[in-house]
Amino acid sequence: MRPCLQVAQRYSARRPLQRALQSSALWHRSRATRQPSRRADGSQRRQRSTWAPATAAVHADAGIDKTSHDSDVAPPIGLSTTFDDGADHVYSRISAPTRERCEAVLAALEGGGGARAVLFASGNAATHAVLASLAARARENGRTPRVATDGIGYHGTRDAVAALGPAVEMVGGAADLGEGDVVWLESPRNPDLRVPDVAGACAGPADVVVDATFAPLAQRLLDDDVACVIHSATKGLGGHSDLLGGVAITRDGELADRLAWHRTAAGAAPGSLDCWLLLRSLRTLDVRVTRQNATAQRVAEALEASGLLQRVLYPGLASHPDHAVATRQMTSYGSILAVECRSEAAARALPETLALFRSATSLGGVESLAEWRRKYDDAVSPLLVRLSIGLEDPDDLIDDLLSALRRLE
Ligand SMILES: *Cc1c(COP(=O)(O)O)cnc(C)c1O
Repeated sequence: MRPCLQVAQRYSARRPLQRALQSSALWHRSRATRQPSRRADGSQRRQRSTWAPATAAVHADAGIDKTSHDSDVAPPIGLSTTFDDGADHVYSRISAPTRERCEAVLAALEGGGGARAVLFASGNAATHAVLASLAARARENGRTPRVATDGIGYHGTRDAVAALGPAVEMVGGAADLGEGDVVWLESPRNPDLRVPDVAGACAGPADVVVDATFAPLAQRLLDDDVACVIHSATKGLGGHSDLLGGVAITRDGELADRLAWHRTAAGAAPGSLDCWLLLRSLRTLDVRVTRQNATAQRVAEALEASGLLQRVLYPGLASHPDHAVATRQMTSYGSILAVECRSEAAARALPETLALFRSATSLGGVESLAEWRRKYDDAVSPLLVRLSIGLEDPDDLIDDLLSALRRLE
C-alpha cells in the first residue's frame, strides 16, 4: 500500500494514537529513503547535510514535489486540497507538495541531516502543538508535565500554555524538574534580548524547547541536544510581513510524528499560498539575516555611544549581561534590539517620532519597525521600545533614531 494511503486510512478509521504514530513513522521512513534528485547528466546531487545554509536555502527542496512543472526553475504553487488516489498526497490538511518543499528547506537550515520540520498555520499553533505533544508523551508515562519558563518572554506563549489548561502545569525557571518536564526558552528572549544558556539547560533531565524566532540562522541549537526548536515564520523566516506561519524542527522522529499528527487532528496546517511565499522568502534568508544583523549591531553601538538612552539591550554589545553566552551560542546576534528611554513619555512617543521605522508590532521584516512594547504586554517596562531592524541603509536608520531621540530630549 502507498504510504500516504496508510496515513489516510489511519486518519479516517480514528485508530488509537499509538497505531497512528507507528504508521506515520513508516510513512516518513519510506519518504526518507527517496533517491536524491539527479541532474540532467545523471550525476547525483551532493548530500544535503553538507550544504551551508545559504546553499540549502536554495536547493534543499530539489526533487520534492515532482509535477508536470519539472522544467520550471521557480517552484510551482500547489493549491490543490485533494489528490488522485494513489498519488504522493491524499488531502492537504495531512500533507501538501508546496508545504513539503518548504519543510525540507527549513529542516536543512535548522538541523541538517536527521532533522524534520513540521509547518503550522502560525507560531502560536507550533507552540501549542509542541507543548500538547510533549504533554501527551508525558501523560503516557503517567505524569502531568511541568513547563518551566524563564522570566517574561513572548506573551502569546503564555496564552498557548493557558489554552492547554490542566494538561500542563506552569512553573518558574528555578523549579526542580525531572524527566518528562519541559524547559521553554526563548533565544534571544522577547523583549529584553536576554540569551539563555541553552547547553546548560540541556544538561538537566527535562526536554528543552527553544523559541528561536528572534535570531533565525544565527544558532545551531539542535546540536546542543535541544528537543525541538520553534520559529514564528511570520517574523524573520517570512521576512516581508506578508505571511503567517510557524515551524517546529526536531531530530526526535517520534516527536515529529506526534507534531504532524497533532497538526492534522487540530487542523493547524498552513495554507499553500503562505507556504509558497515562505519558500520564496527562505531563498534570500541568509543574505537578509547577514545584512539585518550587521545593521542591528551598528545601530546598537551608535545608540549606546549617543548617551541619549538609559540603556541599549542587544546581545552583541559588550555591556549586555549575556554577551558571553551569546558569543558562545550564536554566530551573529539577531536583528532585534530594545532600548530603555529616560522617561515613559519619551518611550511612548518614540515610535511615532521616527520617520523610517513604522510604528507597528511584529519583527524580522525588510522594513524597520518600532513599538512601545508595554502597549501589548503589561508585564514589560514602560520605558522599553523594541526595534526590529530591516534592510534600509544603516546610516539612514541611525540618523533617524538619533534625530528623533534629540527631539524627545
Ligand atoms: C510572534 C512570535 C510568536 C508567535 O508567532 P505567530 O506567528 O504570531 O503565531 C512566538 N514567539 C515569538 C518570540 C514571537 O515573536
